[in-house]
Order: sequence, then structure tokens, then C-alpha cells
Amino acid sequence: MLHTQAAFADRILAWFDQHGRKDLPWQQHKTPYSVWVSEIMLQQTQVSTVIPFYQRFMARFPDVLSLANAPQDEVLHHWTGLGYYARARNLQKAAQQIRDNHKGQFPTDLHQVMALPGIGRSTAGAILSLACGQSHAILDGNVKRVLGRFAAIEGWPGEKKVETQMWQLAERLTPLSRTGDYTQAMMDMGATLCTRTKPKCHACPISDDCQAKELGRQSEFPGKKVRKAIPTRHTIMLLPKWQNQVLVYKRPPAGLWGGLWGFFEVSQESQIAGRAIELGLQDFTLTELAGFRHTFSHFHLDIRPVLLELHSAPQASSVQEQELLWYQLDHPANIGLAAPTKTLFSTLRQIDTSAA
Ligand code: SF4
Repeated sequence: MLHTQAAFADRILAWFDQHGRKDLPWQQHKTPYSVWVSEIMLQQTQVSTVIPFYQRFMARFPDVLSLANAPQDEVLHHWTGLGYYARARNLQKAAQQIRDNHKGQFPTDLHQVMALPGIGRSTAGAILSLACGQSHAILDGNVKRVLGRFAAIEGWPGEKKVETQMWQLAERLTPLSRTGDYTQAMMDMGATLCTRTKPKCHACPISDDCQAKELGRQSEFPGKKVRKAIPTRHTIMLLPKWQNQVLVYKRPPAGLWGGLWGFFEVSQESQIAGRAIELGLQDFTLTELAGFRHTFSHFHLDIRPVLLELHSAPQASSVQEQELLWYQLDHPANIGLAAPTKTLFSTLRQIDTSAA
């Protein structure tokens, strides 16, 4: 069984010696600083994209002090194109803390490294094992995939108990020597062999003992986040239309689509006539348009749009408390619109075009 640390690590390291990546720019003249910068850049970003950014960044900020003392605009400029700018801001903030609290020397204690902005337990472990040869486990996305499949760990790794189980396994399997190579090997395996889709199990050094492979369930690990079913609400939106204008109102500042312009709504068909009278609308033809769903994070809203096509100019509305606007479909006003309002304006324009 490969669950013993030595047997597992031996196979991983033998694979690394033959197939591991050893020529990446941050693998040359490794320092905690250079490994740190590369690890932060590699979060959410692929190796091939990172390489030119890394080289330009290191040429301009070759050490902790040059990064700590640089204008923030310049740091962000060197990050432009990599995205997730909080990473760059945290990198500089951490460099300033290292300058101020650690005499400019990157700390080599796991807890001190983890205390720096933007560095979690896995990144701290990776920096100290790759650059200093310390024995610390890592658990980035790639390693979660390899270990999750190897031990067929059920559940989504974002859940505390699943993550804890993975950390325990990662710690148990991490060797005391050659930890840097082992760390790199696990990252490489996840990136090149144990890929999200179509893992190359035939070339994998731990395939004989991989539980997911044994079960033929590689694609099921690691587990996905279970999406909670969200409720569905229903509404009828009224689209009063006179010539090329439609009536909208400014929604209250708080609540759904706060401060945006939208259509009046009713919850039941029987309320349409009463609402129309309040809005000063008479003499119209009702047509129900195709319904659609708008989904919020916490509920679905099923929308039934009803067109009220006026045959004569609208009267003054008795609705005093709201700001009203007859919106000209062919001269869009510069106002904030709720998403379904925008969709329905397009629908009405299409109806007008096809009727023309
Ligand atoms: S055998 Fe396949 S699924 Fe299992 S760890 Fe190796 S590559 Fe991943």
C-alpha cells in the first residue's frame, strides 16, 4: 500500500527525477523571495502566462526592499494583465512588513510567513519547502486534485471537514527529505498528469494504488460544491406603451434593483386593471409576451411581461410617490436600468422593427 510516507514519496520523487519541470525561471537561483513572487503569480494563472510577467517583475523588483520601496502604481503597472490585483497589493504590503518587522529578511518560520498578507498555509509551505528545503505540506488546487483522487476523498474541498482530511493526508505523505522536489513534483503531477479532465493515469507513478482510478471515478474527485436549491418567485411586469414610449419608474433606493428604473409589477392578473387605472392608463390592448427567468444569488424570478398597448395618450397618473418616465425606445436616456428592463426594452424594439 502506498499510504506509507516513504513508499508514496519515493514514487513521486522517481517520477520527478525523470519528468518534473526543472527549468522554470523561478527554479533557477531559488530564494524565498523569488519563489514567493512566482507562487503568488501562479495563483489563478497558468505557468506559460506567468513567465514573462515574472521576468519583468524580477528585473524591476529583484528583492524584498526594491518591492517594498517602490511606488504602488509601478507595482500595479508590472501586474497589469495578470488580473486579481489584490495579489500585487498584498505582495507589496508583505514586502513592507518584511522590511519593517524582519530587517528586510524573508522569515523562515512557517507561522511568521503565514502571518504576512496574502500568504496562506499552502503558499507558506511551498515557499519554505521549495526555497529552504523545510518539510511542510502544501495543499493547492493541484494537490487537492491528486490527493482527493488518490484516496477517493468524498466531498467538496472548500468544506472544512474535507479540507482537514486532505491536510492530514498531505502532511502524512510529505517526506522529511527532498521536500522541495516533492512539493514541485506534486504541483507538476496535478498540472500535467492528474489534470481536471482526462487524467493520464497510464503515466502516473501512483496509479496502482489510486482509489479513484480503481473505482473508475476520476472525474468525481475532488467533489463539487453542492448548490443549494433556491426558491422561485413570480411576477407580472406591466409594459405600458404609447407610440414609441414605455412607462417605467425609479425604484426605491433600497432593496431589489435599488435606485434603478424598472417596470411596475403586480403579482396576479386580476390586479392589472386596477394598477393600470392608477397609472392613468385606459383604452389599451393587453398582450402577454414571452416569459423569462432572472436569477439572483438567492432566488429565481420568473417574469411574465404584459404589454399594454395604448390607443390614446395616457392621462395623468395618480401614482404620486414614484418618479415616472415615459422612456423613448429610439432615444435611450442615460439612466440606470434593472437587467430585465433592459431585456424587455430590446424585446419591444424587436417587436417595433418587425411590425414596421
Ligand atoms: S491514477 Fe490518475 S486519477 Fe489517480 S492520481 Fe494518478 S493521474 Fe490522478
